[in-house]
Amino acid sequence: MSILPEAVAAGLYLFAAVCFILALKGLSSPKTARRGNAIGAFGALVAVITVFLSVDFEGSRLWLALLALGVGSAIAVPAARKIAMTDMPQLVALLNGVGGGAAAVVGLIELAEWQGQAEFLATASTAFAVLIGSLSFAGSIVTFLKLQGLMTAKPVIMPGAAVLMVVTMVASAAVAVLVAFTGNIGLGLVLCLLGLVSGVMMVLPVGGADVPIVISLLNAFTGLAVAASGFAMPNTLLLVAGTLVGASGGILTLAMANGMGRSVLNILFGALKGGSTAGSTAESNRPVRRATPDDVATSLAYAGKVVVVPGYGLAVAQAQHVVQELVNSLRARGVDAFYGIHPVAGRMPGHMNVLLAEANVPYDLLVEADDVNSQIPSTDIVLVVGANDVVNPAARDDPKSSIYGMPIINADHAGQVFFLKRSMRPGFAGIENELLFNPKTQLLFGDAKESLSAVVAALKEV
Ligand code: NDP
Repeated sequence: MSILPEAVAAGLYLFAAVCFILALKGLSSPKTARRGNAIGAFGALVAVITVFLSVDFEGSRLWLALLALGVGSAIAVPAARKIAMTDMPQLVALLNGVGGGAAAVVGLIELAEWQGQAEFLATASTAFAVLIGSLSFAGSIVTFLKLQGLMTAKPVIMPGAAVLMVVTMVASAAVAVLVAFTGNIGLGLVLCLLGLVSGVMMVLPVGGADVPIVISLLNAFTGLAVAASGFAMPNTLLLVAGTLVGASGGILTLAMANGMGRSVLNILFGALKGGSTAGSTAESNRPVRRATPDDVATSLAYAGKVVVVPGYGLAVAQAQHVVQELVNSLRARGVDAFYGIHPVAGRMPGHMNVLLAEANVPYDLLVEADDVNSQIPSTDIVLVVGANDVVNPAARDDPKSSIYGMPIINADHAGQVFFLKRSMRPGFAGIENELLFNPKTQLLFGDAKESLSAVVAALKEV
């Protein structure tokens, strides 16, 4: 027996939906992101409690639902607590896949229960949920395997992949229409299978730096699949929450693609035409100018303006606290030191903002790429800490480069450049960075945390 009257449950769903919207608003700025996250989590809690108090669970089904909740929480809570920040994209991929898979399974259960007796709109939206949900599930699992290093991160292009992809798409669309008109569960299962194949085929040819963008796209797909199940069930909250995920995931996908100067279609199908950003990890053996921590400290101490460009390596080294210590000491000496934040530095949107927020870096010291570029010509030193692709001039100057068109921070326009990195290996895109060999560049080799600690220590002696 349900405890809550229908009108109260609807009111609570509305409250949860408002929480989700406020959460998205909060997440749009580093200042309010933590609060936004908490508001979204609270909305989700209200929604789950409302479901338990308003749905008429028959007999043992309540215990099954509670058991599922318990098992899910027991797996998710320790996983989310333990995950390293640099592994976050694969966790998102996995969670997203589970969401899509759930939407597909709910759709199949609905089809089985309706036995072809439901209205067209309900079966049509269920067909959509089954196809897109299973596509998102399979695609997300492949992206997880790629990012976790359990399979190659390079594009996998099977012979005849393009033709097979078109055939699968046409077959999926045809079976989806049949399911929409008949509500047949057998066809529903075939549709699910086609969705799984489509998901694998869609993600296999995507490689290297593009994988996180596909995660965001699949996230949008999962949202749409959930919204479709909300429409079919009907459940207003699923509809609203799914639509929010679909819309925000879509916007994020476009923003990430823009950050790399690529189109979403090129990211998805570029490899089939032979144009992917998948890179190599080969080390260059061309000569470079080396610096010692003392060299870096002395130059920084006498500079007027210093821009620190952090990247993925800062996250790997967990050097956020020591880089802030360096910036603080420089500012205490009267040097105008601040950070230049590239939109795709690191491995997920906002990665550098999140990382530097951990070290309590004031937000006004985080300057976005566009604004930083106008200040670089008057900058004495750019200190590149664990970044590479985001300062690679090839993106600006070399039309043949795979990252051509990606906006960069123009570090090469500053007076002097120091790179803190461990080796001559390239960045995520796997291409050489001419800036490393530029006469104004010097390299301090080593783990970013150790190098920065040595520079901070040396600075005290200057
Ligand atoms: P890159 O991957 O280009 O370079 C990272 C650099 O960090 C490497 O040169 C590496 O060199 C160095 N490094 C790694 N570990 C350490 C360490 N412990 N100490 C010091 N240095 C270290 O990173 P960027 O941030 O410049 O660029 C991000 C890349 O990721 C771009 O290609 C972007 O397109 C891609 N990407 C980003 C997304 C996002 O949303 N942020 C999403 C999708 C893709 P070495 O190994 O020699 O130390």
